[in-house]
Amino acid sequence: MRVFKFGGASVKDAEGIKNVYDVLQKVGYEDVLLVVSAMGKTTNALEVVIKNYFDKSAELQSSVQEVKKYHNQILLDLFEDDKNDVFQAVKLHFSDLDYFLGHNKSPNYNFVYDQIVSYGELISTTILSHFMNFMGIKTQWIDVRNFIKTDANYRDAEVNWELTQKNISKNVKRKILNITQGFLGSDENNFTTTLGREGSDYTAAIFAYCLNAESVTIWKDVPGVMNADPRYFENASLLNQISYREAIELAFYGATVIHPKTLQPLQKKEIPLYVKSFINPLLKGTSVSKGATLEPFLPCFIVKKNQLLISLSSIDFSFIMEDNISEIFSLFSEYKLKVNLIQNSAISFSVCVEDKFDNFKELNTVLSKKFKVDFTENVTLFTIRHFNDKAAEMVEKGKTVLLKQVSTETMQIVTRDN
Ligand code: ADP
Ligand code: ASP
Ligand code: MG
Repeated sequence: MRVFKFGGASVKDAEGIKNVYDVLQKVGYEDVLLVVSAMGKTTNALEVVIKNYFDKSAELQSSVQEVKKYHNQILLDLFEDDKNDVFQAVKLHFSDLDYFLGHNKSPNYNFVYDQIVSYGELISTTILSHFMNFMGIKTQWIDVRNFIKTDANYRDAEVNWELTQKNISKNVKRKILNITQGFLGSDENNFTTTLGREGSDYTAAIFAYCLNAESVTIWKDVPGVMNADPRYFENASLLNQISYREAIELAFYGATVIHPKTLQPLQKKEIPLYVKSFINPLLKGTSVSKGATLEPFLPCFIVKKNQLLISLSSIDFSFIMEDNISEIFSLFSEYKLKVNLIQNSAISFSVCVEDKFDNFKELNTVLSKKFKVDFTENVTLFTIRHFNDKAAEMVEKGKTVLLKQVSTETMQIVTRDN
């Protein structure tokens, strides 16, 4: 069996959905399982709904309306008349959402988040599945929540592999085009959970692992994995092949083209991963497999913007030792700051972190009681795998370098724009 993942960008409008059909015509669809994300930026739009819901904002209804309108337009563009069953099926999902918004009593933000955000994927797969049937491809729509079981850690749920494996081996039909939702799962009480933003790649890997799939292909708006994000680097080149290890490193340092959790299950069973263009599906793209040498061998660049560089030094010139460091780290973890780089000297300790939840201000008051705290906001962290002088020069040009760290394979540079 082959597992394909189509992300939000590939199904952002009617053209995109028609293109998925064309891709399937070109590469075959028998014995395939499709994992599909919410359409375009729907997850972000549903996050606005969630915010309005908790803020008891007057905008709640209009934000829901926007999501409805967006999908409705896609339906009208795809189907000749509104007699197709899909209109009813999508309407049903939206009335479930309305019902939830009207009746929910849980104050648990993360729980509510997952219940609401899941409609993005439920609706996209409903539309896609009906469209394939409309075009003559028979499909099996499956509710992923009956397959991927997780704990109840809403918004970042952990997979229960044993149960998931059982469900998938027993109930996924072969020899048919299966269509299911990325990103979602369900807990012991059958409430919806999610696997973390951008988690649909991971869903594809979970199915591939449990099905002993022949391969996973993630279809992207880029030709494959490149040696840099083409949005930021004009001369980015396609990497024809990379090893699982290289892919894990790139994803870990922040190359958003593959979700970091995706690689581990694939690598365990040596299932090859292909990253290909949904615009040119017959091109080879990137192949990720065991021990593959990086080809072509080029420096790879990863950019993380909006980072915070924090420097802590002891107030009385005492050393920063294991016990301070462990205390500092547990504070970072408690305040949900993601540490992307660490450097320490005898009396100071610097970290480059991401403050996704805007917690630094509060943390700073705690840290300031024990340390002298200096920080610079809005810095950029560049990571160069397989660096050389030219690559470093290119990154540093026109910027102020605040910190630099070098290991055998990787150079990290924190910069501020001049
Ligand atoms: P999806 O539609 O599957 O969610 P994403 O938008 O998450 O797709 O991922 C594709 C994007 O990843 C590309 O448009 C590109 O800008 C970005 N990207 C970041 N790093 C890389 C890289 N090294 N190679 C290719 N694309 C990259
Ligand atoms: N729709 C989800 C998100 O935007 C999951 C995904 O696209 O992978 O985060
Ligand atoms: Mg994505």
